[in-house]
Amino acid sequence: MTHSVSLKPHNTFGLDHTCRELIAVKTTGELISCCLALYQAKEPMLLLGSGSNVIFCDDFEGTVVLVQTRGIEVATIEGYHLLSVAAGEDWHELICFCLEQGIAGLENLALVPGKVGAAPIQNIGAYGVELNDICDWVEYLDLSSGRLIRLNAPDCQFAYRDSIFKQQLLGSAVITQVGFKLAKAWQPKLDYGPLKALKNTNVTPKNVFDCICQTRMAKLPDPKTMGNAGSFFKNPVITNEQFSVLVDKFPSMVGYPQGMIHTKLAAGWLIEAAGLKGVQIGGAAVHKNQALVLINKDDATSDDILALAKHIVDCVESLFGVKLEAEPRLIAATGERSL
Ligand code: NAP
Repeated sequence: MTHSVSLKPHNTFGLDHTCRELIAVKTTGELISCCLALYQAKEPMLLLGSGSNVIFCDDFEGTVVLVQTRGIEVATIEGYHLLSVAAGEDWHELICFCLEQGIAGLENLALVPGKVGAAPIQNIGAYGVELNDICDWVEYLDLSSGRLIRLNAPDCQFAYRDSIFKQQLLGSAVITQVGFKLAKAWQPKLDYGPLKALKNTNVTPKNVFDCICQTRMAKLPDPKTMGNAGSFFKNPVITNEQFSVLVDKFPSMVGYPQGMIHTKLAAGWLIEAAGLKGVQIGGAAVHKNQALVLINKDDATSDDILALAKHIVDCVESLFGVKLEAEPRLIAATGERSL
């Protein structure tokens, strides 16, 4: 345990805030006892995997718990591989492990940063696959009772970048393990962007994995060289009527059907169309290859990022009448805040 620790190495945006204490936990038992002790002491607590989806807006006046638990168990039943994975396992390394074992189904989510335990919270998704497509169950520590509870996927209230862990269970659950159910008969999902080129070929899970890795590496900045937190905004969902009004005015606007009555807009398109690609406030900038990503270009402070994010929200709203929402979690002195 250390005191007043820099969080700079623990967030991919590279923000130089501190926390009062930082505890790294290596086993599920340690994770449980540490979180229960902090909860009972009413100490502000933040669970952190690899810090790839957080923006520290201030010094954190509490304890950060780094989840470093490990363990992947594989079982098989008829037609399926079943995986039970510790919360602290790295997401991308899990996919590599599965491919080595001949287990497919996760490859569209290659190179999504973060740990396995964080994946259900915002129901990570990329290139046509969302966590809820492959999740079997989520086990969490209920802080108020001290019990471990296993929720089957349908009870996790998974939705677009959302789950019960961001709603009713916010602040009261610590995810310890995630279960996956992956069909032995692989069905490739090739409808998104560059994957379409693999249709009508003898495609393998490794082909999909390689295609996703190449695309992401070409478009998205590597946090090791350029601080960032991935997509900074969710893709807004509007009604089909709103979309037809907008597309009359902006014929090249991108929209994808979302159920029967909604259309999902591409937030990156809106930001680029508002002329904001490359715009910089202080040390924070809109990435020149991908307008959806904000970067730490030049020793950005959290105020720079928040000012840039608010500027983007205001410009997009005044041009299109659509309000963007931040995707990363914004962490203030004692807990989460909004933009
Ligand atoms: P893109 O190809 O520039 O497309 C922009 C948006 O259009 C995407 O965000 C995607 O929405 C949507 N889209 C594209 N093809 C679609 C299709 N066939 N059907 C329905 N919707 C479609 O996307 P990008 O910004 O480079 O991102 C590629 C993928 O990586 C996306 O799925 C994106 O969500 C994902 N991604 C996720 C995170 C995260 O979870 N934090 C971070 C970075 C990128 P959706 O976002 O709804 O898929």
